[in-house]
Amino acid sequence: MPRITPTPDPDECPDCGEYGMHTRTCPLARGLRAVSDADGYWFRRFPYMAWRTRPVADAELREMRWRGVEPPEDAHILVTNIAPGVRRRTLILLADTDAA
Ligand SMILES: [Zn+2]
Repeated sequence: MPRITPTPDPDECPDCGEYGMHTRTCPLARGLRAVSDADGYWFRRFPYMAWRTRPVADAELREMRWRGVEPPEDAHILVTNIAPGVRRRTLILLADTDAA
């Protein structure tokens, strides 16, 4: 009988093993919270800004790879400030405006 290697469940967190959510001590979740906290700090520091772009953070990259997404090397994150404490993150590619 052939051996079948089970494939990991894409919804099971690779760090804490929970489905659909993370444990409080999950390293991946803590990394994502740190990124979100840093974005929140940035918008409090620059309250007149509606959006910012920044490189993809390590925790975001790990989350994308867990979900089967391999972003291009020059991908960035567009963070839109919707309301105080409410932000949206979008994976974008920055256009090379110097290209002919
Ligand atoms: Zn987790």
